Amino acid sequence: MKTWEDVACKAKELYGAASRKVADVADLAKQKLKMAENEKAITATMEALGRLLYDSRHAATELDESIVGELVKQVDDLLAANEELQANIDNSCGKKTCPACGNVNPSDAAYCNNCGKKLD
Ligand SMILES: [Zn+2]
Repeated sequence: MKTWEDVACKAKELYGAASRKVADVADLAKQKLKMAENEKAITATMEALGRLLYDSRHAATELDESIVGELVKQVDDLLAANEELQANIDNSCGKKTCPACGNVNPSDAAYCNNCGKKLD
């Protein structure tokens, strides 16, 4: 049976891999992949928190508040990173790039705001 230490360790590993700078991630596919990685790390961290609580209740020992705090912060960081990634994805989705001049126009634009070319 896995102890919470194993699970917490695994969660930290995933967190380390997942917490690379969001700014490093440019294209959409990579951003989506990054979000999936973050989700995995969130799940692992939640599991570690659950096992921590279980072990503490089961063995009637004190919950280690510093570890709980660390894991909760980890989940907060990952959720924030995913919000940022989702915002990036939302911003890039549906925008129309002008085939003539390359200007990025709002999704509802019928004509390019820069050169006036008709957009599909
Ligand atoms: Zn244009």
